[in-house]
Amino acid sequence: MTLPLTIATVVIVGGGAGGLATAASLLRRRPDLNVTVIEPRDTHYYQPGWTLVGGGIFDQAKTARAMASTLPTGAKWHQAAVAGFEPALNRLSLTDGTRIGYDALVVAPGIELNWDGIEGLRDTLGQNGVTSNYAFDLAPYTDRLVRDLRGGRALFTQPPMPIKCAGAPQKAMYLSCDRWRRAGRLEDIDVEFHSAGATLFGVEHFVPSLMRYIERYGIDLNLTSTLTAVDGEAKRARFSTKDADGTLRIVERDFKMLHVCPPQRAPGIIRESELADSAGWVEVDPGTLRHRRFGNIFGLGDACSAPNAKTAAAVRKQAPVVAENLLATLDGRAPAAIYDGYGSCPLTVERGRVVLAEFGYGGKLMPSFPAWLIDGTKPSHLAWFLKERMLPPIYWKAMLKGREWLAKPRKAEEAA
Ligand code: FAD
Repeated sequence: MTLPLTIATVVIVGGGAGGLATAASLLRRRPDLNVTVIEPRDTHYYQPGWTLVGGGIFDQAKTARAMASTLPTGAKWHQAAVAGFEPALNRLSLTDGTRIGYDALVVAPGIELNWDGIEGLRDTLGQNGVTSNYAFDLAPYTDRLVRDLRGGRALFTQPPMPIKCAGAPQKAMYLSCDRWRRAGRLEDIDVEFHSAGATLFGVEHFVPSLMRYIERYGIDLNLTSTLTAVDGEAKRARFSTKDADGTLRIVERDFKMLHVCPPQRAPGIIRESELADSAGWVEVDPGTLRHRRFGNIFGLGDACSAPNAKTAAAVRKQAPVVAENLLATLDGRAPAAIYDGYGSCPLTVERGRVVLAEFGYGGKLMPSFPAWLIDGTKPSHLAWFLKERMLPPIYWKAMLKGREWLAKPRKAEEAA
């Protein structure tokens, strides 16, 4: 049986941050371009807001909007998931049984949260004191747990890299500690941070400020300690911990509250496709974001292989680069726009203060503001204002509308 085949000039896989920002940047440059977005969900989420939902600062509803209302004017939406790629034939198949052909393809299906990578976790999420800001439905439960906790042990965990927004597990912890401190309860709560990593944060410039908060809140810091199993009813968590000599030990901790950041990986649909590199990510050139083997395919966001911090801030800079380079490719020109690896992680160290980590490839500092205004290595009120008040409208009203605030793409010769 032959499946029905529709054709679009540009097909975009994923209506998340990367997919919609690229659609908007393309249509701003060429309003009559035929663009179709493939996205199964009917809701678009502003995920950076979930930290503030868990922190009791944002209402959950503020982080979700109807997909139909967030699509840029001129883009068509096909509500289905991609089931398979056929890059040599310039087409893909969808879960609703249709096929779509394209002249150029943008791949942005995000990262896969592997809740089943931790034994027992899925069964107890949202109950027994087990929560995660990594899910829209669970972030309000974080808020409730923090509000209600009076004493006992609170565990916060971080899996091995890569994860999206590498600072989010710590942000959840600092905001919780700050609330307990203000309520005069922190002394009765025994807070532990268990991270699979060997350092507190991957870019060393930001570590001293973060360490000061670890000390201030009296957090027991456990590096190279990976959550492997949860028994919700017994309220016990199991960790695999590496000693200084490399010996692995199993450690069990009981808890009143457990905030989990799940292990993450490239989406199955990419891992199993011809688009993947050896680690499963969409194999792109880290500068042009063009696929290394298929010249009319581009990748951005959490699913792509570029070694930047996986953040919406990175997407803000990547989308204009993909738009420029994709249009150049359609016109028969070589891609000239270059992504510099920028990513950002606003670390909410207390209510009213943020350590604004902004960096590019190789951990190179890339501040957006002069140090007299915001010194990203230090906690700052202005950076909090940016996170709470400015970044949400920048996301909805600029990034998803193709207004490229602080994100004008650089050309190869300027980047040299
Ligand atoms: P997403 O925005 O996740 O979108 C992927 C889309 O693809 C989804 O809509 C999905 O439904 C769709 N999709 C999946 N599979 C298919 C398929 N087979 N076919 C079609 N569509 C598919 N970033 C920051 O910059 N700053 C922050 O402070 C920050 N904090 C964060 C805090 C938390 C708790 C979380 C969870 C994330 C945070 N991020 C932050 C990260 C940021 O949200 C992501 O990096 C960003 O959303 C990545 O965009 P994306 O388009 O790659 O993926």
